[in-house]
Amino acid sequence: MVFDAIVIGVGSMGAATCYQLAKRGQRVLGLEQFGIVHDEGSHTGQSRIIRKAYFEHPDYVPLLESAYAGWQTLEEESGTQLYWPVGLAYFGEPGNPVLVEAQSSAQAYQLPLERKPPSYFPSFQLPTDWECWLEPEAGYLSPELAIRAFAQMAQHHGAEIRTQQRVMDLEVAGTEVVVRTEQEEFKARKLVITAGAFIKDLVNLSVPLQVTRQYLAWTETDPFGTPEAPCWVIAEPGTPGIYYGFPQTEHLPGPRGMKFGHHRPGDEWIPHLPDGIPAETKVLNGVLDRYFHRDLTIGEWATCKYTYSEDEHFILDFLPEYNQQVIVATGFSGHGFKFVPVIGEILADLVQKESTEHPAGFLGLGRFSR
Ligand SMILES: Cc1cc2nc3c(=O)[nH]c(=O)nc-3n(C[C@H](O)[C@H](O)[C@H](O)COP(=O)(O)OP(=O)(O)OC[C@H]3O[C@@H](n4cnc5c(N)ncnc54)[C@H](O)[C@@H]3O)c2cc1C
Repeated sequence: MVFDAIVIGVGSMGAATCYQLAKRGQRVLGLEQFGIVHDEGSHTGQSRIIRKAYFEHPDYVPLLESAYAGWQTLEEESGTQLYWPVGLAYFGEPGNPVLVEAQSSAQAYQLPLERKPPSYFPSFQLPTDWECWLEPEAGYLSPELAIRAFAQMAQHHGAEIRTQQRVMDLEVAGTEVVVRTEQEEFKARKLVITAGAFIKDLVNLSVPLQVTRQYLAWTETDPFGTPEAPCWVIAEPGTPGIYYGFPQTEHLPGPRGMKFGHHRPGDEWIPHLPDGIPAETKVLNGVLDRYFHRDLTIGEWATCKYTYSEDEHFILDFLPEYNQQVIVATGFSGHGFKFVPVIGEILADLVQKESTEHPAGFLGLGRFSR
């Protein structure tokens, strides 16, 4: 059998792509090297922030509008809550680029972003000259529940999903793409590669990608005392990236306490390092000491992988050497999860029409050669 499309990697982006293609009546095969949801990729750790006042670039905002609609559709179809709209607080010095760019995206697209006094966030101890902003149409998603829901709904719409099938190589033969796993060979008209941190084992991209190790920590006690507390971002002067965190999520599997971390490129992924290495412990304990009133200690750790592109923007495109038959989605650079439904739509469009009406042209490979 020749499938309309094969999707390599049924993680975040791949599960949504299988769902979109199957829902549109395409014969789709998803191949996943592990199980649906596992700790080896980029998608575990209980929660992911979703927000619209995008400080990374305002061009993402229209994609986010579509992503929000996609999350709602998936919640309705699967009957599962995936999004908790608790809001997101931004803290930083006046003029800090994260705050300035979030405001600029909010203004450009008339998104709600409200200035609040520090007393609005009583659990935090913040420098008196800092600004506090609240984005009410933000919150967090459960990546584990979302990927399972996408995979289940994809199968419900007719997708075939095979787990424990590691793709070893691929080849274009005329109008077909041939994909070989350790066990079998499959054929399709189009191939979508959503292999996350493992992409370099499958194809050579003409642009560099860096896989880095990221740490997540949970405090032993809950600093907020309410699951309705907003997610937060701290843009500290002189520190690269941002610190971020979540309210305690008692309704989701995983550790209790406040989950938090440091979003920045980080160090290259080296397997088998212990979790919570001393340098990271020092950094994250410093965040607890500097910015929270209560005495907090770290109770649990987890690690996860980022796949960075050179400019920290996503890469969604055909691979030039494969004659419009192989599509790649990579370089999500630690901020891709909130976009999952719209990435699935875009990749399904590229499979079906070789183009998309979503304004995603700024994420093409061509930007690196201009
Ligand atoms: C600690 C951390 C915090 C984050 N926080 C946020 C956040 O708050 N908000 C946000 O929007 N984003 C966040 N992200 C980013 C987001 O989670 C990622 O961008 C997203 O999960 C990447 O999805 P993916 O599909 O590329 O990778 P994955 O979800 O890892 O999926 C790739 C899949 O491909 C499979 N695969 C690979 N190679 C093969 C092969 N040869 N054969 C078969 N299968 C294969 C893998 O096993 C895997 O299942 C965070 C990421 C991390 C690590």
